[in-house]
Amino acid sequence: MELIIASGIQWGDEGKGKVSYYLSQFSDVCMRAGGGSNAEATFYQQGKDWHFQMIPSGVVRGKVGILADGVLISCDRLMLEIRQLEEEFGDISDRFMISGNAHVVLPYHRAKDAFLDENVLKINTIRQGIGPAMADRAYRVGVNVDTFIRSGGAPEGQDEHWEDREQYVEMLRKYRKNTKRYLGELQKTDKTVLIQGSQAFMLDNVHGTYPSVTSSYTSTAGLLHGAGLPYSSLTRNIGIVKAYPIRFDRTGPLPTECSESDQDHIRNAGNEFSHTSHTPLRIGWLDMVALRYAQELNHYTEFFFTKIDVLSELKEIPVCIGYRHRGETIDICYEWSNMDTSEYEPVYKVLKGWQRPIRGVQDFMELPVEARDYVTFLEDQVGVRVSLIGTGPKDDEVIVR
Ligand code: GDP
Repeated sequence: MELIIASGIQWGDEGKGKVSYYLSQFSDVCMRAGGGSNAEATFYQQGKDWHFQMIPSGVVRGKVGILADGVLISCDRLMLEIRQLEEEFGDISDRFMISGNAHVVLPYHRAKDAFLDENVLKINTIRQGIGPAMADRAYRVGVNVDTFIRSGGAPEGQDEHWEDREQYVEMLRKYRKNTKRYLGELQKTDKTVLIQGSQAFMLDNVHGTYPSVTSSYTSTAGLLHGAGLPYSSLTRNIGIVKAYPIRFDRTGPLPTECSESDQDHIRNAGNEFSHTSHTPLRIGWLDMVALRYAQELNHYTEFFFTKIDVLSELKEIPVCIGYRHRGETIDICYEWSNMDTSEYEPVYKVLKGWQRPIRGVQDFMELPVEARDYVTFLEDQVGVRVSLIGTGPKDDEVIVR
Protein backbone atom coordinates (compact mmCIF):
# COMPACT_ATOMS: atom_id res chain seq x y z
CA MET A 1 0.00 0.00 0.00
CA GLU A 2 1.09 3.54 -0.72
CA LEU A 3 -0.10 6.13 1.73
CA ILE A 4 -0.33 9.83 0.91
CA ILE A 5 -1.23 12.41 3.52
CA ALA A 6 -2.26 15.87 2.33
CA SER A 7 -2.79 18.28 5.19
CA GLY A 8 -2.81 22.02 5.72
CA ILE A 9 0.08 23.30 7.77
CA GLN A 10 -0.89 26.88 8.67
CA TRP A 11 -4.16 27.94 10.33
CA GLY A 12 -6.61 26.35 7.90
CA ASP A 13 -8.31 27.12 4.61
CA GLU A 14 -5.21 26.19 2.62
CA GLY A 15 -7.37 24.64 -0.09
CA LYS A 16 -7.48 21.06 1.19
CA GLY A 17 -10.75 20.32 -0.63
CA LYS A 18 -9.32 21.11 -4.04
CA VAL A 19 -5.94 19.55 -3.28
CA SER A 20 -7.54 16.32 -2.03
CA TYR A 21 -9.85 16.21 -5.01
CA TYR A 22 -6.86 16.70 -7.32
CA LEU A 23 -4.79 14.02 -5.55
CA SER A 24 -7.70 11.57 -5.44
CA GLN A 25 -7.18 10.90 -9.16
CA PHE A 26 -3.99 9.05 -8.16
CA SER A 27 -5.62 7.22 -5.23
CA ASP A 28 -7.89 4.22 -4.81
CA VAL A 29 -9.17 5.10 -1.37
CA CYS A 30 -9.71 8.53 0.20
CA MET A 31 -10.22 8.94 3.89
CA ARG A 32 -10.65 11.39 6.69
CA ALA A 33 -8.91 10.56 9.92
CA GLY A 34 -9.82 13.35 12.32
CA GLY A 35 -12.03 16.35 13.03
CA GLY A 36 -15.64 16.46 11.90
CA SER A 37 -18.04 18.88 10.28
CA ASN A 38 -15.91 21.79 11.49
CA ALA A 39 -13.84 21.24 8.32
CA GLU A 40 -15.04 22.85 5.12
CA ALA A 41 -13.74 21.59 1.80
CA THR A 42 -14.65 23.29 -1.46
CA PHE A 43 -13.84 21.96 -4.92
CA TYR A 44 -15.18 21.94 -8.45
CA GLN A 45 -15.99 19.00 -10.63
CA GLN A 46 -16.93 19.72 -14.22
CA GLY A 47 -18.58 23.05 -13.49
CA LYS A 48 -20.35 21.92 -10.33
CA ASP A 49 -19.10 23.08 -6.97
CA TRP A 50 -19.11 20.88 -3.92
CA HIS A 51 -18.90 21.90 -0.28
CA PHE A 52 -18.20 18.98 1.98
CA GLN A 53 -17.76 19.04 5.72
CA MET A 54 -17.73 15.28 6.27
CA ILE A 55 -17.12 13.24 3.13
CA PRO A 56 -13.65 13.00 1.56
CA SER A 57 -13.51 14.83 -1.80
CA GLY A 58 -12.39 11.75 -3.76
CA VAL A 59 -15.80 10.07 -3.36
CA VAL A 60 -17.07 12.47 -6.05
CA ARG A 61 -14.50 10.94 -8.39
CA GLY A 62 -15.86 7.45 -7.73
CA LYS A 63 -13.16 6.48 -5.26
CA VAL A 64 -13.74 4.53 -2.06
CA GLY A 65 -14.32 6.89 0.87
CA ILE A 66 -13.72 6.15 4.55
CA LEU A 67 -14.49 8.05 7.73
CA ALA A 68 -11.98 6.43 10.07
CA ASP A 69 -11.92 5.96 13.85
CA GLY A 70 -10.63 9.44 14.65
CA VAL A 71 -13.53 11.23 12.94
CA LEU A 72 -16.54 12.77 14.71
CA ILE A 73 -19.79 12.23 12.85
CA SER A 74 -22.33 15.06 12.52
CA CYS A 75 -25.33 13.03 11.38
CA ASP A 76 -27.34 15.90 9.85
CA ARG A 77 -24.45 17.14 7.75
CA LEU A 78 -23.43 13.62 6.71
CA MET A 79 -26.97 12.80 5.63
CA LEU A 80 -27.14 15.95 3.51
CA GLU A 81 -23.87 15.12 1.75
CA ILE A 82 -24.85 11.48 1.16
CA ARG A 83 -28.11 12.70 -0.40
CA GLN A 84 -26.22 15.10 -2.67
CA LEU A 85 -23.97 12.26 -3.80
CA GLU A 86 -26.90 9.89 -4.32
CA GLU A 87 -28.65 12.46 -6.47
CA GLU A 88 -25.62 12.69 -8.72
CA PHE A 89 -24.28 9.13 -8.68
CA GLY A 90 -27.00 6.87 -7.22
CA ASP A 91 -26.30 4.54 -4.30
CA ILE A 92 -22.77 4.87 -2.87
CA SER A 93 -23.01 2.21 -0.17
CA ASP A 94 -20.60 -0.07 -2.06
CA ARG A 95 -17.81 2.52 -1.78
CA PHE A 96 -18.41 4.67 1.25
CA MET A 97 -17.84 3.39 4.77
CA ILE A 98 -17.77 4.62 8.34
CA SER A 99 -15.86 3.06 11.20
CA GLY A 100 -18.01 1.72 14.03
CA ASN A 101 -15.50 3.36 16.32
CA ALA A 102 -15.91 6.89 14.96
CA HIS A 103 -17.81 8.99 17.51
CA VAL A 104 -21.18 10.66 17.06
CA VAL A 105 -21.80 14.35 17.78
CA LEU A 106 -25.00 14.65 19.80
CA PRO A 107 -27.28 17.73 19.97
CA TYR A 108 -26.09 18.68 23.45
CA HIS A 109 -22.49 18.85 22.14
CA ARG A 110 -23.55 21.69 19.84
CA ALA A 111 -25.40 23.49 22.60
CA LYS A 112 -22.35 23.16 24.85
CA ASP A 113 -20.03 24.34 22.07
CA ALA A 114 -22.10 27.50 21.59
CA PHE A 115 -22.30 28.13 25.32
CA LEU A 116 -18.55 27.66 25.87
CA ASP A 117 -17.61 29.82 22.90
CA GLU A 118 -19.94 32.61 23.92
CA ASN A 119 -19.00 32.66 27.57
CA VAL A 120 -15.56 31.19 28.09
CA LEU A 121 -13.48 30.43 25.02
CA LYS A 122 -14.50 33.27 22.70
CA ILE A 123 -12.43 31.90 19.82
CA ASN A 124 -15.23 31.95 17.27
CA THR A 125 -15.63 28.19 16.80
CA ILE A 126 -18.10 27.19 14.11
CA ARG A 127 -20.18 25.55 16.83
CA GLN A 128 -20.54 22.15 15.27
CA GLY A 129 -20.13 20.47 18.68
CA ILE A 130 -16.76 18.98 17.78
CA GLY A 131 -14.83 20.20 20.86
CA PRO A 132 -17.38 18.87 23.39
CA ALA A 133 -17.70 15.56 21.48
CA MET A 134 -13.90 15.16 21.53
CA ALA A 135 -13.85 16.02 25.22
CA ASP A 136 -16.52 13.38 25.92
CA ARG A 137 -14.43 10.89 24.02
CA ALA A 138 -11.48 11.72 26.27
CA TYR A 139 -13.71 11.55 29.38
CA ARG A 140 -14.82 8.10 28.14
CA VAL A 141 -18.46 9.08 28.06
CA GLY A 142 -18.59 9.60 24.27
CA VAL A 143 -20.84 7.56 22.01
CA ASN A 144 -19.36 5.70 19.09
CA VAL A 145 -21.23 4.66 15.96
CA ASP A 146 -21.68 1.09 17.19
CA THR A 147 -23.11 2.18 20.54
CA PHE A 148 -25.35 4.67 18.80
CA ILE A 149 -26.73 1.96 16.50
CA ARG A 150 -27.08 -0.57 19.34
CA SER A 151 -29.03 1.87 21.50
CA GLY A 152 -31.33 2.82 18.62
CA GLY A 153 -29.92 6.34 18.74
CA ALA A 154 -30.77 6.74 22.42
CA PRO A 155 -27.57 6.18 24.36
CA GLU A 156 -28.40 6.09 28.05
CA GLY A 157 -28.50 9.50 29.67
CA GLN A 158 -27.52 11.30 26.47
CA ASP A 159 -30.02 13.06 24.26
CA GLU A 160 -32.51 10.21 24.32
CA HIS A 161 -35.11 12.51 22.81
CA TRP A 162 -33.29 13.46 19.63
CA GLU A 163 -36.18 13.48 17.19
CA ASP A 164 -34.24 12.63 14.02
CA ARG A 165 -32.36 9.80 15.64
CA GLU A 166 -34.11 6.94 13.86
CA GLN A 167 -33.12 8.07 10.40
CA TYR A 168 -29.56 8.61 11.62
CA VAL A 169 -29.40 5.10 13.07
CA GLU A 170 -30.56 3.76 9.73
CA MET A 171 -27.94 5.80 7.86
CA LEU A 172 -25.09 4.76 10.14
CA ARG A 173 -26.15 1.10 10.02
CA LYS A 174 -26.03 1.23 6.23
CA TYR A 175 -22.51 2.64 6.01
CA ARG A 176 -20.91 1.15 9.12
CA LYS A 177 -18.18 -1.28 8.09
CA ASN A 178 -15.21 -2.94 9.70
CA THR A 179 -12.90 -0.28 8.29
CA LYS A 180 -9.90 -1.50 10.28
CA ARG A 181 -10.13 -4.92 8.68
CA TYR A 182 -10.55 -3.26 5.28
CA LEU A 183 -7.44 -1.11 5.83
CA GLY A 184 -5.53 -4.13 7.15
CA GLU A 185 -6.29 -5.99 3.92
CA LEU A 186 -5.36 -2.94 1.85
CA GLN A 187 -1.93 -2.87 3.45
CA LYS A 188 -1.15 -6.15 1.66
CA THR A 189 -1.98 -4.66 -1.75
CA ASP A 190 -0.43 -2.07 -4.04
CA LYS A 191 -3.39 0.28 -3.67
CA THR A 192 -2.93 3.98 -2.90
CA VAL A 193 -4.69 5.53 0.07
CA LEU A 194 -5.06 9.29 0.55
CA ILE A 195 -5.67 10.84 3.95
CA GLN A 196 -7.30 14.24 3.60
CA GLY A 197 -6.34 16.37 6.59
CA SER A 198 -8.81 18.67 8.25
CA GLN A 199 -8.07 21.98 9.96
CA ALA A 200 -4.29 22.48 9.88
CA PHE A 201 -1.09 21.84 11.77
CA MET A 202 -0.85 25.21 13.56
CA LEU A 203 -4.32 24.44 14.96
CA ASP A 204 -3.14 21.16 16.49
CA ASN A 205 -4.44 20.80 20.03
CA VAL A 206 -1.00 19.99 21.45
CA HIS A 207 1.51 21.71 19.15
CA GLY A 208 -0.49 24.65 17.80
CA THR A 209 -1.43 28.11 19.06
CA TYR A 210 -3.33 26.82 22.11
CA PRO A 211 -6.01 27.75 23.16
CA SER A 212 -6.89 29.11 19.70
CA VAL A 213 -6.71 25.62 18.25
CA THR A 214 -8.99 22.77 17.34
CA SER A 215 -9.79 19.89 19.67
CA SER A 216 -8.08 17.20 17.57
CA TYR A 217 -4.52 16.30 16.57
CA THR A 218 -3.80 17.65 13.12
CA SER A 219 -0.12 16.71 12.90
CA THR A 220 1.05 13.91 10.62
CA ALA A 221 1.29 11.66 13.67
CA GLY A 222 -2.24 12.66 14.73
CA LEU A 223 -3.64 11.83 11.29
CA LEU A 224 -1.94 8.44 11.22
CA HIS A 225 -3.30 7.77 14.69
CA GLY A 226 -6.85 8.75 13.71
CA ALA A 227 -6.61 6.59 10.59
CA GLY A 228 -5.17 3.62 12.48
CA LEU A 229 -2.35 3.22 9.99
CA PRO A 230 1.33 2.67 10.79
CA TYR A 231 3.80 5.42 9.94
CA SER A 232 5.87 2.93 7.97
CA SER A 233 3.12 2.95 5.33
CA LEU A 234 3.57 6.67 4.68
CA THR A 235 5.11 7.34 1.28
CA ARG A 236 4.25 11.01 0.59
CA ASN A 237 3.60 13.53 3.29
CA ILE A 238 2.30 16.58 1.45
CA GLY A 239 2.11 19.83 3.39
CA ILE A 240 -0.42 22.24 1.90
CA VAL A 241 0.87 25.80 2.20
CA LYS A 242 -1.25 28.76 1.23
CA ALA A 243 0.52 31.80 -0.26
CA TYR A 244 -0.79 33.86 2.68
CA PRO A 245 -1.94 32.33 5.98
CA ILE A 246 -5.39 33.15 7.33
CA ARG A 247 -7.19 32.78 10.64
CA PHE A 248 -10.93 32.26 11.15
CA ASP A 249 -10.93 33.40 14.75
CA ARG A 250 -10.70 36.98 15.94
CA THR A 251 -7.97 36.72 18.53
CA GLY A 252 -5.57 33.79 17.99
CA PRO A 253 -1.92 34.48 17.12
CA LEU A 254 -1.18 35.42 13.51
CA PRO A 255 2.18 37.18 13.91
CA THR A 256 2.38 38.34 10.28
CA GLU A 257 -1.14 39.81 10.13
CA CYS A 258 -1.08 42.46 7.37
CA SER A 259 -2.34 46.03 7.42
CA GLU A 260 -6.09 46.53 7.03
CA SER A 261 -5.69 47.75 3.44
CA ASP A 262 -3.53 44.78 2.40
CA GLN A 263 -5.98 42.42 4.11
CA ASP A 264 -8.88 44.05 2.26
CA HIS A 265 -7.13 43.66 -1.07
CA ILE A 266 -6.20 39.99 -0.56
CA ARG A 267 -9.55 39.17 1.04
CA ASN A 268 -11.42 40.43 -2.00
CA ALA A 269 -9.02 38.91 -4.53
CA GLY A 270 -9.09 35.52 -2.77
CA ASN A 271 -12.66 35.61 -1.45
CA GLU A 272 -11.42 35.11 2.08
CA PHE A 273 -14.69 34.97 3.96
CA SER A 274 -15.97 32.14 6.10
CA HIS A 275 -18.13 29.79 3.99
CA THR A 276 -20.67 29.38 6.76
CA SER A 277 -20.90 32.75 8.50
CA HIS A 278 -19.44 34.91 5.66
CA THR A 279 -17.36 36.81 8.20
CA PRO A 280 -14.06 38.22 6.86
CA LEU A 281 -11.00 36.10 7.61
CA ARG A 282 -7.80 37.58 9.06
CA ILE A 283 -4.88 37.50 6.64
CA GLY A 284 -1.11 37.46 7.11
CA TRP A 285 2.05 37.39 4.99
CA LEU A 286 3.77 34.07 4.36
CA ASP A 287 5.54 33.15 7.59
CA MET A 288 8.72 31.07 7.28
CA VAL A 289 9.14 30.92 11.07
CA ALA A 290 5.86 29.06 11.46
CA LEU A 291 6.52 26.90 8.40
CA ARG A 292 9.98 25.86 9.68
CA TYR A 293 8.36 24.83 12.95
CA ALA A 294 5.68 22.81 11.12
CA GLN A 295 8.39 21.17 9.02
CA GLU A 296 10.53 20.29 12.04
CA LEU A 297 7.63 18.49 13.72
CA ASN A 298 6.11 16.76 10.69
CA HIS A 299 8.82 16.25 8.13
CA TYR A 300 6.76 16.91 4.99
CA THR A 301 8.24 15.30 1.91
CA GLU A 302 6.90 18.08 -0.34
CA PHE A 303 4.64 21.11 -0.43
CA PHE A 304 1.49 21.86 -2.42
CA PHE A 305 1.61 25.67 -2.62
CA THR A 306 -1.88 27.12 -3.12
CA LYS A 307 -3.47 30.41 -4.09
CA ILE A 308 -0.42 32.20 -5.43
CA ASP A 309 -2.67 33.55 -8.20
CA VAL A 310 -4.44 35.69 -5.58
CA LEU A 311 -1.29 37.78 -5.02
CA SER A 312 -0.91 38.65 -8.71
CA GLU A 313 -1.75 42.35 -8.44
CA LEU A 314 0.64 43.19 -5.62
CA LYS A 315 3.67 45.31 -6.43
CA GLU A 316 5.65 44.00 -3.50
CA ILE A 317 5.15 40.92 -1.35
CA PRO A 318 6.67 40.90 2.14
CA VAL A 319 7.68 37.46 3.42
CA CYS A 320 8.50 36.90 7.08
CA ILE A 321 11.94 35.29 7.46
CA GLY A 322 12.43 35.67 11.23
CA TYR A 323 11.04 37.19 14.42
CA ARG A 324 12.74 39.75 16.66
CA HIS A 325 12.24 38.37 20.15
CA ARG A 326 13.83 39.86 23.29
CA GLY A 327 16.70 41.45 21.40
CA GLU A 328 17.46 38.39 19.25
CA THR A 329 16.39 37.38 15.75
CA ILE A 330 15.02 33.84 15.70
CA ASP A 331 14.30 31.82 12.58
CA ILE A 332 12.18 29.17 14.28
CA CYS A 333 9.79 29.60 17.18
CA TYR A 334 8.71 26.86 19.57
CA GLU A 335 6.51 28.86 21.91
CA TRP A 336 3.12 29.03 20.23
CA SER A 337 0.97 28.08 23.21
CA ASN A 338 -0.52 31.14 24.90
CA MET A 339 1.73 33.23 22.69
CA ASP A 340 1.92 36.95 23.32
CA THR A 341 2.41 38.16 19.74
CA SER A 342 3.51 41.60 20.95
CA GLU A 343 6.79 39.92 21.97
CA TYR A 344 7.47 38.69 18.45
CA GLU A 345 8.12 41.23 15.73
CA PRO A 346 8.26 39.78 12.22
CA VAL A 347 11.34 40.53 10.14
CA TYR A 348 10.42 40.77 6.47
CA LYS A 349 12.18 40.36 3.18
CA VAL A 350 10.23 42.17 0.50
CA LEU A 351 9.98 40.26 -2.77
CA LYS A 352 8.96 41.82 -6.06
CA GLY A 353 5.40 41.12 -7.19
CA TRP A 354 4.70 39.92 -10.74
CA GLN A 355 1.66 42.13 -11.45
CA ARG A 356 0.32 39.87 -14.17
CA PRO A 357 -2.59 37.43 -13.96
CA ILE A 358 -1.43 33.83 -13.60
CA ARG A 359 -4.78 32.17 -13.03
CA GLY A 360 -4.87 28.73 -14.62
CA VAL A 361 -1.17 28.55 -15.57
CA GLN A 362 -0.10 24.88 -15.75
CA ASP A 363 3.56 25.13 -16.62
CA PHE A 364 6.09 26.45 -14.11
CA MET A 365 8.17 28.12 -16.81
CA GLU A 366 5.11 30.10 -17.92
CA LEU A 367 4.97 31.85 -14.57
CA PRO A 368 6.57 35.30 -14.47
CA VAL A 369 10.07 35.13 -13.02
CA GLU A 370 8.94 36.95 -9.84
CA ALA A 371 6.29 34.30 -9.18
CA ARG A 372 8.89 31.56 -9.71
CA ASP A 373 11.15 33.40 -7.29
CA TYR A 374 8.35 33.45 -4.72
CA VAL A 375 8.09 29.66 -4.98
CA THR A 376 11.83 28.99 -4.86
CA PHE A 377 12.23 31.43 -1.97
CA LEU A 378 9.83 29.26 0.05
CA GLU A 379 11.77 26.13 -0.91
CA ASP A 380 15.11 27.65 0.09
CA GLN A 381 13.83 29.07 3.36
CA VAL A 382 12.11 25.92 4.62
CA GLY A 383 14.13 23.26 2.80
CA VAL A 384 11.16 21.47 1.24
CA ARG A 385 10.47 21.07 -2.46
CA VAL A 386 7.29 22.61 -3.83
CA SER A 387 6.11 19.85 -6.15
CA LEU A 388 2.63 21.21 -6.88
CA ILE A 389 1.29 24.75 -7.20
CA GLY A 390 -2.33 25.91 -7.24
CA THR A 391 -3.09 28.70 -9.71
CA GLY A 392 -6.88 28.75 -9.32
CA PRO A 393 -9.74 26.96 -7.59
CA LYS A 394 -10.38 24.48 -10.42
CA ASP A 395 -9.05 20.97 -10.48
CA ASP A 396 -6.83 21.56 -13.53
CA GLU A 397 -5.46 24.90 -12.31
CA VAL A 398 -2.35 23.18 -11.02
CA ILE A 399 1.33 23.23 -11.92
CA VAL A 400 3.11 19.91 -11.49
CA ARG A 401 6.87 20.31 -11.16
P1 GDP B 1 -9.86 24.09 3.26
O1 GDP B 1 -10.49 24.81 4.41
O2 GDP B 1 -8.38 24.01 3.36
O3 GDP B 1 -10.51 22.78 2.94
O4 GDP B 1 -10.08 25.05 2.05
P2 GDP B 1 -11.09 24.90 0.86
O5 GDP B 1 -10.85 23.61 0.17
O6 GDP B 1 -12.47 25.21 1.35
O7 GDP B 1 -10.55 26.05 -0.08
C1 GDP B 1 -10.75 27.39 0.18
C2 GDP B 1 -11.07 28.09 -1.11
O8 GDP B 1 -9.89 28.25 -1.88
C3 GDP B 1 -12.06 27.38 -1.98
O9 GDP B 1 -12.97 28.32 -2.49
C4 GDP B 1 -11.20 26.81 -3.10
O10 GDP B 1 -11.91 26.66 -4.32
C5 GDP B 1 -10.13 27.85 -3.23
N1 GDP B 1 -8.85 27.41 -3.79
C6 GDP B 1 -8.16 26.28 -3.54
N2 GDP B 1 -6.95 26.30 -4.17
C7 GDP B 1 -6.89 27.48 -4.84
C8 GDP B 1 -5.89 28.12 -5.66
O11 GDP B 1 -4.80 27.60 -5.89
N3 GDP B 1 -6.20 29.36 -6.15
C9 GDP B 1 -7.39 29.98 -5.91
N4 GDP B 1 -7.62 31.19 -6.42
N5 GDP B 1 -8.34 29.42 -5.13
C10 GDP B 1 -8.10 28.19 -4.61
